[in-house]
Amino acid sequence: MRAMVLQTLGGLDEPGGPLQLSEVARPEPASGEILIEVSTCGVCHTELDIIEGRTPPPRLPVIPGHEIVGRVAKLGRGVSRFSAGDRVGVGWIHSSDGSENENVSGAFRATGRDVDGGYAEFTTVPADYAYPIPEAFDDASAAPLLCAGGVGYRALRLAKVEDGQVLGLTGFGGSGHLVLQLARYLYPSSAIYVFARSERERAFALELGATWSGDTLDDPPQPAHAIIDTTPVWKPVLAALERLRPGGRLVINAIRKEDADRDLLAGLRYEDHLWLEKEVKTVANVTHRDIGEFLPIAARAGVQVETTCMPLERANEALRALRDGHLRGAYVLATGHP
Ligand SMILES: [Zn+2]
Repeated sequence: MRAMVLQTLGGLDEPGGPLQLSEVARPEPASGEILIEVSTCGVCHTELDIIEGRTPPPRLPVIPGHEIVGRVAKLGRGVSRFSAGDRVGVGWIHSSDGSENENVSGAFRATGRDVDGGYAEFTTVPADYAYPIPEAFDDASAAPLLCAGGVGYRALRLAKVEDGQVLGLTGFGGSGHLVLQLARYLYPSSAIYVFARSERERAFALELGATWSGDTLDDPPQPAHAIIDTTPVWKPVLAALERLRPGGRLVINAIRKEDADRDLLAGLRYEDHLWLEKEVKTVANVTHRDIGEFLPIAARAGVQVETTCMPLERANEALRALRDGHLRGAYVLATGHP
């Protein structure tokens, strides 16, 4: 089968890199697993963290990709949850111990980092970690829901806002635009503020129902009960802490932070950023419950997913565009399989 394979870390700017188009053996589903014929696979910022070594794979080569949509091609022994031909999705959690805290368990295995993922024509996954895709979504728009959506839903759960409370989102990429629509549906009376660097992102946020949008350091109409940070840097963390009300909660939804602006943390002032019982919570990975719950809610909420589709072979180009911030919504790779 065709696959885009990561052989060595780094090399995002090298010609022909960092992923190599390769012909590799089609995997076989083990007991309890399903083989999926991949149709689409979303491109996620975490792929950059893997390739640039901030969360490196335990072995190379590896096939990245953890926003997978396709059809069940073959059932491993003992699988009764699905039938051949069913349309299913796979997210960042490839397998774990099935507990409530399986996202932070030592048994957690990440799709496309710890095991081969979906930048390929076929992939395998335990049947318990595959999810039916609601009719409302086509193969391209379903892909980003598997990661940005599922993890975004977890971040929203951890933010613990109630309808009517003020929610902030700082950073407005693939996850932000899904979480905004979800929050708009779940908390119809809440004011939702979006902090984003680019004018285009701020305008997009207002289109999708944000009450207010501004730059990272702009002051919103009132302080927030909770703010979700999806940026890879530190400036928005400090800015968000200052814009929380007493007892407010900052939820950092990022697998790694980059070091570029870490010096700003020297400006942390206890009385402005942390005192008055403000809380900081991080989001680690995702559980199968998060993704399984999120997909039908997203369908009911009528979540619109903005995607740019390109062929699997152009994965490198998509990764560079993602790093450089040249996108609205999410990039999705298509294998050409129906
Ligand atoms: Zn992801």
